[in-house]
Amino acid sequence: MVRSFLIKYAEIGVKGKNRYIFEDKLTSHIHHSLKRLDGDFSVIKESGRIYAHASSEFDYDEVVSALQCVFGIAGICPMVQIEDKGYEDLKEQVLKFIDETYPDKNFTFKVDTRRANKQYPHTSDQINRDLGEIILETYPETKVDVHHPDVLLHVEIRGKNINLYSLVIPGPGGMPVGTNGKAMLLLSGGIDSPVAGYMIAKRGVTIEATYFHAPPYTSERAKEKVIDLARLVSAYSGPIKLHIVNFTDIQLAIYEKCPHDELTIIMRRYMMRIAEHFAKKNGCLGLVTGESIGQVASQTMQSLAATNAVCTLPVYRPLIGFDKKEIVEISEKIDTYEVSIQPFEDCCTIFVAKHPVTKPNVERIEKSEINLADCIDDLMKTALETAEVITVGA
Ligand code: ATP
Ligand code: MG
Repeated sequence: MVRSFLIKYAEIGVKGKNRYIFEDKLTSHIHHSLKRLDGDFSVIKESGRIYAHASSEFDYDEVVSALQCVFGIAGICPMVQIEDKGYEDLKEQVLKFIDETYPDKNFTFKVDTRRANKQYPHTSDQINRDLGEIILETYPETKVDVHHPDVLLHVEIRGKNINLYSLVIPGPGGMPVGTNGKAMLLLSGGIDSPVAGYMIAKRGVTIEATYFHAPPYTSERAKEKVIDLARLVSAYSGPIKLHIVNFTDIQLAIYEKCPHDELTIIMRRYMMRIAEHFAKKNGCLGLVTGESIGQVASQTMQSLAATNAVCTLPVYRPLIGFDKKEIVEISEKIDTYEVSIQPFEDCCTIFVAKHPVTKPNVERIEKSEINLADCIDDLMKTALETAEVITVGA
């Protein structure tokens, strides 16, 4: 019987004059996410509300899952919209709604009627009482509880239509992607960076990504894994433009010319420089990494400072205060975990030192980088020019 969904949004409702921008983006994202499914849907914005109506058969679970990936949605209410055919018909429809939605009638309930149509011949209070009474009569296992009901049945009388809904399925929250600028994610094959991308996109930020690989030391399969991760994140963020950078020669040069205990930090600094280059060229307003304080040697406060020192754009680290366990929980929720733990080599792990510095000193690192002076400009230029760009999740 459910053919419609009422979409509730929270945060975007408070954006004052810009509210319509947020609502229009959200409406369009909902439209795109449903367009990919079987079934025909119309998504409409109507007096501070968004509705998705199905005009053909559809798979309920599939629709709910799709909507749960659209940032900006606070709640998804499967709804039955009926035509106003008089009071007796309303009562019948309500009973049918209850019966189909709740096969087990052992619940407490409350009816909450709102009339946008003040011409309706009964008051909201009267309707609440009449509907409550008939539900109790028809399903004697039910009970009324006006304070903490298991089922809060909403009856909304709006013009010629009446909406019935009671379930509110939580949405992903956040803000519609595309309402908060763009950022460049440094995306590796690990657990953390896909989660970092998800979290930034959740705040309405469009993301691009840069991945560094080191063929032939890293395999084609390692690259495929990162593309797979980008695709999984794109289910939430929308299409991701992915820059794939061949980092081998830069890494070999660092390995050859710099102190081995500083390899990781110096390598991370070159990653940031390259990602920032693509970021600026593509209108991104910041960089995003999956770093978290103290997780590994390259993520101590000193190491983060040394990595940060080469960036002029702000670097966003949404996982900075998270424990690994908390990051894993999110990666499981967004389905990236299983791909992240596939055992493929990462360019960072190939040239790592046994005893990396944990308290790098920026001046010392800068001195070590002078050893690269004769080759690094050419190597950077080649890395930038040969980067492969693909769009994932279009
Ligand atoms: P992740 O799980 O995201 O790989 P990690 O715990 O393995 O993180 P590091 O390898 O130190 O940590 O990487 C820190 C951050 O640097 C990553 O979260 C990611 O943003 C970036 N990064 C690391 N390796 C790469 C890579 N090969 N390509 C792109 N970005 C990378
Ligand atoms: Mg990693």
